[in-house]
Amino acid sequence: MSSINAVTRQIAALEISSKPNTQHNQHGSSRPTGGTHQKKPSQNGPNVAKLLSKFAPPHPFPAAGQVKSTANGNAGNSGATTTTTAATAKTRPASPTKSSVAAPAAAPTRKPHTIDIGKYDGGLELDNDTRGEKVTGEAAEQLALDSSVARDRPTREWHLFDFDIGRPLGKGKFGRVYMVRTKTEPHYILALKCLYKSEIVQSRVEKQIRREIEIQQNLRHPNVLRLYGYFHDEKRIFLMLEFAGKGELYKQLTKHGCFTEKRSARYIDQMADALIYLHSKHVIHRDIKPENLLLGINGELKIGDFGWSVHAPGNRRKTLCGTLDYLPPEMVEGKEHSEKVDYWALGVLTYEFIVGSPPFEDLTGYNATYKRIAKVDLKIPNKVSPEARDLITKLLQYDPEKRLPLTEVRKHPWIMRYKSKSSTTPAPGS
Ligand code: ATP
Ligand code: MG
Repeated sequence: MSSINAVTRQIAALEISSKPNTQHNQHGSSRPTGGTHQKKPSQNGPNVAKLLSKFAPPHPFPAAGQVKSTANGNAGNSGATTTTTAATAKTRPASPTKSSVAAPAAAPTRKPHTIDIGKYDGGLELDNDTRGEKVTGEAAEQLALDSSVARDRPTREWHLFDFDIGRPLGKGKFGRVYMVRTKTEPHYILALKCLYKSEIVQSRVEKQIRREIEIQQNLRHPNVLRLYGYFHDEKRIFLMLEFAGKGELYKQLTKHGCFTEKRSARYIDQMADALIYLHSKHVIHRDIKPENLLLGINGELKIGDFGWSVHAPGNRRKTLCGTLDYLPPEMVEGKEHSEKVDYWALGVLTYEFIVGSPPFEDLTGYNATYKRIAKVDLKIPNKVSPEARDLITKLLQYDPEKRLPLTEVRKHPWIMRYKSKSSTTPAPGS
């Protein structure tokens, strides 16, 4: 933990040092000058390198031979392509730190400006013409989200013009996600997630989105998806997320049906490590499930969604949230809950990884699932090893205080048995 904290402090210092010049307005908040919440393209390019070069995750992409010819589109810019950016880029070795998972020594590394980010489909402009309305009033204030003026860790100013846009990575509830690269050195690869403000307002989740962003921007852990910065225009909010090269864990689980115990144990160890970190920051996740987990380029697990997280220093919460299958008894019964809800969810996750379905799933409906959770009606199939069974049982305890502490989870014989020296996840299918 101390090493993560040390790196966190270094990053904080770096990011603050890259803060752009801003003026304090009459409301006392620090904002860029210019009158509206729309910003001009940033002029302080070199700070991109300062911000990202050391601390962004490495991008050990497939061997050079696998690179396809590029045809990158550009969202509203002059048409810089991989070739043009490559021509201006200097060689820069990937610099993994303790805040990012180091690539295995043998993994082929590629320079970010030569990585194929794929073909842009024009979806951002298409959406922008047909989707969303301008948001006004209090909601507009709430959604004027800009990391360059964040109180805690201000970054440099960002704008859509700062990125070459590549292939679509997926569509979420509020917009699309693209693989992008910063135009300025060191041409980092990121996932840019676009959210439509008016749709956020319609769903009445302004506060939740703000909270998700504020929480995620302050987190630094190899198994927690980094949020590097965020910015907005009239209609949209853009999140600069760490690119999860191997996509969604849920897709892998669906593809394989279930995971081997070896693979499951390594994921659970990474989850426990991430949860220890989150809880040390007083962040309770509350929505641990395969759908919210992504996989990094080395197959390492990344907690990706913080929509239901709460920052709760010494606080016990009473809100019902999350998917029923992963909810602990205290939440389905509407009682107060603590960070121990995440211990329970880790037990459910362990079960689902190995078995292929969650333990209290009842296809007859919510009520039946609810009853099974409240009774801890746990039936573990014979194929599950005695060690895994022991861990699942110790996590799925009705009494939150009786659940196995996360530090003990990481030392549990089932986890220890499969712990690799490099501690990264085995290749899919192993
Ligand atoms: P929700 O709006 O409820 O979060 P969602 O999780 O399906 O829904 P997004 O988080 O917007 O939607 O992401 C849409 C898809 O884009 C994901 O399912 C995933 O496949 C892909 N994706 C999102 N973030 C990243 C990322 N950081 N790296 C790689 N792919 C990503
Ligand atoms: Mg999501």
